[in-house]
Amino acid sequence: MHIINDEQAVYVLSPKNQPVAEVKPGDVIKFITMDCFSNQIKTERDLFSSIGWATINPATGPVAIAGAEPGDTLAVKIDDIQVAEQGVMVTVPEMGALGKILSTTETKIVPIKDGKAIFNDKITIPIDPMIGVIGTAPEKEDIPCGTPGRHGGNMDTKLIKKGSTVYLPVFVPGAMLAMGDLHAVMGDGEVSICGVEIPGQVTVTVDLIKGKQEMWPILETPLAWYTIASAEDLDQAADSALNAMVDFLGKRADFKLNDLVSLLSIAGNLEISQVVDPLKTVRMGIAKEIVQNYNLKF
Ligand SMILES: [Zn+2]
Repeated sequence: MHIINDEQAVYVLSPKNQPVAEVKPGDVIKFITMDCFSNQIKTERDLFSSIGWATINPATGPVAIAGAEPGDTLAVKIDDIQVAEQGVMVTVPEMGALGKILSTTETKIVPIKDGKAIFNDKITIPIDPMIGVIGTAPEKEDIPCGTPGRHGGNMDTKLIKKGSTVYLPVFVPGAMLAMGDLHAVMGDGEVSICGVEIPGQVTVTVDLIKGKQEMWPILETPLAWYTIASAEDLDQAADSALNAMVDFLGKRADFKLNDLVSLLSIAGNLEISQVVDPLKTVRMGIAKEIVQNYNLKF
């Protein structure tokens, strides 16, 4: 197993980033990750306003995958996610979907105990660790780790967790996989602008699918297939996620187009991943059980 430490982190996903390691398809990698504040907020006295924007959303890596070329797809199977014993949340006026109703900046420390996030003395929430940032290098531009896109990035999708596989387009030789921004638990929308932000470790198995690529990242969970698309507003993101699902299913099953559209209307689910990042993220899902007779593979 390859271990990538959290000092080896980037704040932008870029075709110019140099790999910190090279692995082969089929290899197992453990990424040690900082939280999205680069582990700078440790107590409720440490406020978001006191940390620099330059150190928001580190992603550990990037790791080059030998043989990966533009036009391929990197399959990242998430074998395990371990999180630390304490997570952190911030609430900041004018930030997030509810920032307009806030007048003070606060930090909330959320202890993790026996698999639960201790929110207060009356509410504990079972943790469900997930990866906020996971991506390859974009084709040309530098994209801050806090922004999602076709390369993945800050998709903040709570289903990107143990047992799922993320299929990411490869735009540069080596693919350049990086990840970070773990959340011990997060709701769809991520409305305050954060989940329970937490350092941790992610173990993944990487594989390469040669000469095949979808327009947007694809997520395979034990129960469903999803397309994940991001755009400036939810309408555009929904449109992209829907069209990506039409492409994905259309290429793999012999539906008439009108039937495919009908199927998505009765058995597909359009879901919001997050509404608080520079681009918003929507996913379109179809249960594997519904399409089981088509034996779908990426
Ligand atoms: Zn986060």
